[in-house]
Amino acid sequence: MNTTTRVCVIGGGVVGASVLYHLTKLGWSDVMLLERSDLTSGSTWHAAGGFHTLNGDTNMAALQGYTIRLYRELEELTGLSCGLHHVGGVTLADTQERFDMLKAERAKHRFMGLETEILGPEEIKQVAPITNIDGILGALYDPLDGHLDPSGTTHAYARAARMGGAEITTHCKVLETNPRVDGTWDVVTEKGTIHAEHVVNAAGLWAREVGAMAGVYLPLHPMEHQYIVTDEIAEIYERATEHPHVMDPAGESYLRQEGRGLCIGFYEQPCKPWAVNGTPWSFGHELLPDDFDKIEDSIAFAYRRFPILETAGVKSVIHGPFTFAPDGNPLVGPVPGLRNYWSACGVMAGFSQGGGVGLTLAQWMVDGTPDRDVFAMDVARFGRILTPGYTLPKVIENYRNRFSVAYPNEELPAARPFRTTPLYDAFDRMGAVWGQQYGLEVANYFAEEGEARYETPSFRRSNALAATAREVKAVREAVGINELQNFGKYLVTGRDARGWLDRVMAGRVPAPGRLSLTPMLNRNGRLIGDFTISCLSETEFQLTASYGAQDYHLRWFENWLEGDVHVRNVSDTRTGFQIAGPNARALLQEVTRADVGAGAFRFMDVKTLPLGLSTALVQRVSYTGDLGYEIYVDAMEHRALWDLLWQAGQAFGLRPFGMRAMMSLRLDKFFGSWLREYSPDYTPAETGLDRFISFGKPADFIGRAAAEAERTTGPARKLCAFEVDAADADVNAYEPIWLDGSVQGFCTSGGYSHHAGKSIALGFVPTARAEDGLEVEIEILGDMRPARLITTPLFDADGARMRG
Ligand SMILES: Cc1cc2nc3c(=O)[nH]c(=O)nc-3n(C[C@H](O)[C@H](O)[C@H](O)COP(=O)(O)OP(=O)(O)OC[C@H]3O[C@@H](n4cnc5c(N)ncnc54)[C@H](O)[C@@H]3O)c2cc1C
Repeated sequence: MNTTTRVCVIGGGVVGASVLYHLTKLGWSDVMLLERSDLTSGSTWHAAGGFHTLNGDTNMAALQGYTIRLYRELEELTGLSCGLHHVGGVTLADTQERFDMLKAERAKHRFMGLETEILGPEEIKQVAPITNIDGILGALYDPLDGHLDPSGTTHAYARAARMGGAEITTHCKVLETNPRVDGTWDVVTEKGTIHAEHVVNAAGLWAREVGAMAGVYLPLHPMEHQYIVTDEIAEIYERATEHPHVMDPAGESYLRQEGRGLCIGFYEQPCKPWAVNGTPWSFGHELLPDDFDKIEDSIAFAYRRFPILETAGVKSVIHGPFTFAPDGNPLVGPVPGLRNYWSACGVMAGFSQGGGVGLTLAQWMVDGTPDRDVFAMDVARFGRILTPGYTLPKVIENYRNRFSVAYPNEELPAARPFRTTPLYDAFDRMGAVWGQQYGLEVANYFAEEGEARYETPSFRRSNALAATAREVKAVREAVGINELQNFGKYLVTGRDARGWLDRVMAGRVPAPGRLSLTPMLNRNGRLIGDFTISCLSETEFQLTASYGAQDYHLRWFENWLEGDVHVRNVSDTRTGFQIAGPNARALLQEVTRADVGAGAFRFMDVKTLPLGLSTALVQRVSYTGDLGYEIYVDAMEHRALWDLLWQAGQAFGLRPFGMRAMMSLRLDKFFGSWLREYSPDYTPAETGLDRFISFGKPADFIGRAAAEAERTTGPARKLCAFEVDAADADVNAYEPIWLDGSVQGFCTSGGYSHHAGKSIALGFVPTARAEDGLEVEIEILGDMRPARLITTPLFDADGARMRG
């Protein structure tokens, strides 16, 4: 066994093997994998081996598509069989909502190049004849669905990795991982210590324990899971072709042919977490005892959906554990707070996702960044606030919802409320209907007396419409107030702070007392942040960006820290409110003696002002696109600031507004938002954020070369706004945009502009076609809706109110 290596992958399940293979594929051959037992000794060996592309997140679906297509390549490369059965599969819909979701998925697949189809009940019967189609509205058919041999596939990855120079050592348990001061690691094993430049935690069922060896908590938890293999069934083995997969979300089951019989597994509601206090090291190639009680109802449902099952005996029961993160997606990437320590854990569908996880992590390690937006599986997406107490109920919720319809406006209830501001109770009394972001309770809207305190999850316009309209009207006609807690906020201080910001941010760093907007780019010139920089002094700056991206951004900042620069996350200690609307200035003037008149307090100014009992940092900018101010105070003074503004605001028609109104207001001005319009999938020139890049500044900002190259060639696609002739459903995300009879673009987000009374979409079309008045069609929930490209904002088109 080598005692030095560039990368030490811990864990020889399908995920660790895939990471190892992809590292060699991208050119790193000095890599090794350590497995405490034989390969596949965790969840991998007892998996049902099913794979599919369907995933609520589009990039995850694309990576699942990559994984599935990879198997043939692996077989050819290694000569080993993955035991592939590309039999296709149908996902059934028994309600309109579920059918809407499948149609929305089908629409997304069009521009992803996936050949899925919507089937009617009779077509389902032809494709999957053992299905009882009573009450079924339709299905999504995916020819890529299938299953494989879990062990054969893992060994194929392993052989391919060995062929690329990797070393694999089995029966070698890792006991400790100890960092050295230079950022490398000593990996202490039963067979000696290995000095590794990088460590990858791919320890599956033991990922929590292996993470703890490095002092980190990885938010994942194992759940028990069971599937049944039946005896032979004549109707199955007498078929000329193999029966396809059938996912029955109503019955929370997946079914496929296994040999001459069937195999059916369940995501049952009375599910059980496993090994709550830690995975025993003694657990190996063993199964959990059968537990028919918890799947009794699921089996009864399956008998109705697939009556043939009732006649079949049970040949075997497979009951084993596998891990989930709180949202069911993997935990991949550099672990925040550690150097050269990488996560490839929490992969609950190793055979759908393992290839994509391996590719992503290898790209991150070798190239410095994945080639697409992978935030949906970034280990940084939950932040460092999570505890096992939070993870467990979320994982149970996720398991139970595995087959539920995922609505775009849905707020899941487990582990809430968790993080709240001092105004939580007051807002609750005022009728707040809550959402959650990064563990924080955020008001989505305020219901009035007699209105429901619950937003109906829907793909169509929800019951929040009236309340949202009221709040938008208050902002546009009087003044609205909204908490600023859910902004990510960072304080950058030090002698070299300005120079550092000039290097890390692509835009201009403002003069003292001024603000600037700037994109942050990665080395490939892709967007990894859209920030507001507030210059408080030559050595002190405040940055604001998305609240949910805190660890994602901090990880990047820490990577690039140099000189006398200190970055502090003040997201939760510095908070406050934004006020916006025509009366915002008068309200602000009412609560301060300082002159805040248009001449004294200009658009994009930042000032320290006495405000009631507090000294506040006030900046004149608003994401609503209206005359507005962001007012920041210490979190301890949040309530006093509220009392001050609320009391004074009554004379000016002040009303609270929530996130639903905010999202409608920003559409009036075509403002993009993080992870919708702005993400590593897009570039500044594509999204129009290049107007904030300071090409003239001398600093060699990160991503400069790529941004300049794009400036020369121009982007192939452009982010544009559309007015949509929608019915009762607006654009959400990734709906295809049809032009001249083919799909030539897609939407990034959309919604209803209450101010203009119009349905608005933002999306990409080829630059050559991006002209005012362009007629397109947008496919919303399977319906083709006419839409026109518009270039004039729906509110304050000349910016007179915002800047005046
Ligand atoms: C009943 C059941 C059915 C399933 N069906 C499917 C399916 O149809 N399709 C699908 O995609 N997924 C399915 N899964 C999920 C799938 O099994 C997992 O997604 C996958 O196996 C995860 O692989 P992994 O490599 O992350 O983890 P694991 O398979 O748990 O591998 C981790 C490895 O790390 C090793 N290790 C841990 N600690 C150390 C250490 N300290 N030193 C050295 N080595 C260590 C372990 O021995 C183990 O071999 C199913 C799971 C179950 C339980």
